[in-house]
Amino acid sequence: MSNKYTLPPLPYAYGALEPYIEAQIMELHHGKHQQAYVDGLNAALDKHPQYFEKPLIELLQHIEHLPMDIQAAVRNHGGGVHNHTFFWHLMSIKGGGEPVGKSAEAINDVFGSFEIFKDKLTTSAKNRFGSGWVWLSLDAGGTLVISSTANQDTPLSGGLFPVLGLDVWEHAYYLQYFNRRTDYISAWWNIVNWEQVEENYVTLIG
Ligand code: MN
Repeated sequence: MSNKYTLPPLPYAYGALEPYIEAQIMELHHGKHQQAYVDGLNAALDKHPQYFEKPLIELLQHIEHLPMDIQAAVRNHGGGVHNHTFFWHLMSIKGGGEPVGKSAEAINDVFGSFEIFKDKLTTSAKNRFGSGWVWLSLDAGGTLVISSTANQDTPLSGGLFPVLGLDVWEHAYYLQYFNRRTDYISAWWNIVNWEQVEENYVTLIG
């Protein structure tokens, strides 16, 4: 099979998000952690190579349709591949500030204000026990919802369509922030790429 997964390039240099996220974290996070998910996904799909032909998003939306012997590996490694690629594009040193465009209007409509939304997502990120992610997604009815997933689970598997995500695994911050997840979350708000959030949102609502 020639359709094996490869590590997608980071859309910026490893040091591009400094001082909020140090280059060494990005180098390990992308070059080692995401690479391991790529390798794990390929190893799983090697057992049933026909699934190399399907978009990863489809596999993650319907994990229950996969052969039992690769469901857990696709959930963990396939989720890891998809979540991290999604996450890299959601950060920019030119980011921060407040949402823009239609996604900004929707955030205000649903949560009342950007500040309320920011508090809620921050609380969800602090409260995620162990390793996981927090998300802003569209539900099937087109309404924005905040949710949290364990490990590398993606909201796609729960019928949601993410527009923003935050990795709160220790590997995302420990080298710089040690056990202070709250400091990492505060720093991350300075690099949220709201233009990308808007693009994700507009693409989904059509
Ligand atoms: Mn990660």
